[in-house]
Amino acid sequence: MSRLDIKTRDRAQRAVEGLYKDLERRIIASPPGQCPVDMAASFLKLCHAQSCGKCVPCRVGLGQLLNLIDEVLDLSEDVSLDTIPLIQRTAEAIRDSADCAIGTEAANMVLRGLIGFREDYEEHIVRHRCTESIQKLKQPVPCVALCPAGVDVPGYGALVYEGRYADAVKLIRKDNPFPTVCALICEHPCEARCKRNLIDAPVNIRGLKRYAVDHCGTVPVPEKMDDTGKNVAIIGGGPSGLSAAYYLAIMGHKVTVYEKRNHLGGMLRYGIPSYRLPRERLQFDIDAILSAGVAMETGYDINDVKNITELREKHDAVYISIGAHTHKEIGIEGEYSRGVLSAVEMLRSIGDDTMPDFLGKAVVVIGGGNVAMDVARTAKRLGASEVSIVYRRRRDDMTALPDEIEGAIAEGCQLLQLKAPARIESDEAGEVKALWVKPQIAGEADPSGRPKPADAQAQPERIPCHIIIAAIGQGIDAKSFEKYGIPVNRGNIKADASSGIENILGVFAGGDCVTGPSTVINAIAAGKVAAANIDTYLGYHHAIECDVEIPEAGSLDKKPCGRVELKMRYAGERGSDFEEIEQGMTEEEAKQEAMRCLRCDHFGLGSFKGGRELQW
Ligand SMILES: Cc1cc2nc3c(=O)[nH]c(=O)nc-3n(C[C@H](O)[C@H](O)[C@H](O)COP(=O)(O)OP(=O)(O)OC[C@H]3O[C@@H](n4cnc5c(N)ncnc54)[C@H](O)[C@@H]3O)c2cc1C
Ligand code: SF4
Ligand code: SF4
Repeated sequence: MSRLDIKTRDRAQRAVEGLYKDLERRIIASPPGQCPVDMAASFLKLCHAQSCGKCVPCRVGLGQLLNLIDEVLDLSEDVSLDTIPLIQRTAEAIRDSADCAIGTEAANMVLRGLIGFREDYEEHIVRHRCTESIQKLKQPVPCVALCPAGVDVPGYGALVYEGRYADAVKLIRKDNPFPTVCALICEHPCEARCKRNLIDAPVNIRGLKRYAVDHCGTVPVPEKMDDTGKNVAIIGGGPSGLSAAYYLAIMGHKVTVYEKRNHLGGMLRYGIPSYRLPRERLQFDIDAILSAGVAMETGYDINDVKNITELREKHDAVYISIGAHTHKEIGIEGEYSRGVLSAVEMLRSIGDDTMPDFLGKAVVVIGGGNVAMDVARTAKRLGASEVSIVYRRRRDDMTALPDEIEGAIAEGCQLLQLKAPARIESDEAGEVKALWVKPQIAGEADPSGRPKPADAQAQPERIPCHIIIAAIGQGIDAKSFEKYGIPVNRGNIKADASSGIENILGVFAGGDCVTGPSTVINAIAAGKVAAANIDTYLGYHHAIECDVEIPEAGSLDKKPCGRVELKMRYAGERGSDFEEIEQGMTEEEAKQEAMRCLRCDHFGLGSFKGGRELQW
């Protein structure tokens, strides 16, 4: 017998690896609306199976914990509300005494569950069922449930397959009047739990939308319903305000959008660079919205109590959607030197066609979010000799999407991780000379699980530069609205889930000014919610419908099949111009991708529990 063998995985090990992958996919595809107690029991069973069995708390304790949760689910005679503290004590004992992370983390998971969904445990014990909120979720179609605006994804996917692109756009517009914008830059939360994950990878939902808008031609908007004689003011012409305006106009109300800047679009024009969202593509959606009968007044700043009061008096209802357009200060010495600017200032001047002069300059961008990537890539296109992105945490902790980070690096931006800005050095004339940074170490995790940066106790470093751009977050200029009496919480306008403002009838708010900086589709969804509730407030119940017939679901292709990814222009070529960087699918790719959809509107729980909402 040999003394040492080369390690090779046997058949059983390979099969188990395969099972892990299947399990991963199944977890990713867990649809919203599952019973959290049931999920906890299933996870615990998996954790127990991972136990090496050496320490008693893990080997025996996890089994006991599982029995207790099963009792809650199986309505055992012994179960009572006292079972909950018993579960807690057992989990705490395992957490504090298990030898390794298999036991402690399993116990922690149960403890987190007791905080997060205690009422679900109680409901099972007292009423032998899931809480009403879970019952109400109805196991909907995953992608539709996770698109904040509830766009009918399987419906438009099937229409794309049939080549009915204009119908696909009509169907999307029922819930989202920005099909083109979302086709190009939506962060597609709809894909996160796509059931196709069970087989291989999520359907490229945004890519299919893109194929539809690239091939639909001009698609007329629905006819305006009968005139109601009511009029509504929208303050702010970004995606949220324009979405509310579109639906309210179709419902027959007279709608005017009051916009501070010279052009409509909000951050779609004054934030997102045109290499990701070309102006003419944005204008396509804006023109469609205006064609529904929306009036606009640009260059109209609603900025004091007097003009808010006048506006309210002149209109039957008001929707505030002013977004988040102020910048946050860096809070370091030298930040008022010449050459230091904020991301919002820079993008705003580009939105008004005034390009900053970065030719041959060394630019440093501070921040790790999508906005930081956008300004870095824009600076490169404006001729900067070098662009460095300085971030105080690690690349893995950045909030920017991985594609955006990769895109920035591919275009020649340099990523400097774990560097905390310390001070800005300037010359006698007050011009920026360098950014000084303190090296950091990734330390203990914060409650969200991201390691907090801590001083690495290394020498400060000097990054020579001419321009420093701070992309460290945006705030909301709500001062005049607060003076008018609108509640403001930590700088954000306070509105309830229906977009209404407490104690101020007829005034509604939504989008980034309520949530803080978020995403386009969240802002659109807020505009849709506001439109429905403003309509009800005005005494109506108009139904937004779409008469497009959705193709029947046929036989499914359930064989594993690659996901079609959208391609980019070559980094070397695209990095120096503002032309669009992403390329759409070919017809063949679009058809294959559409076929990958499992039509959860027809098969599985979604079809009979969630179903399709033909009107809203
Ligand atoms: C650089 C950047 C890149 C982004 N990239 C993406 C992306 O790729 N995908 C994504 O989903 N999201 C992205 N976002 C976020 C997205 O753009 C916003 O979440 C969205 O635009 C918010 O919509 P909104 O209508 O609430 O506000 P905004 O779009 O900010 O619109 C508010 C409007 O109100 C106007 N206004 C403000 N004050 C007044 C006043 N007093 N009187 C009259 N009008 C006023 C403003 O001028 C503006 O037009 C990005 C944001 C930025 C800054
Ligand atoms: S709008 Fe965005 S979230 Fe909704 S279906 Fe389209 S890509 Fe998905
Ligand atoms: S398979 Fe189709 S219907 Fe099901 S979640 Fe994915 S995109 Fe939606």
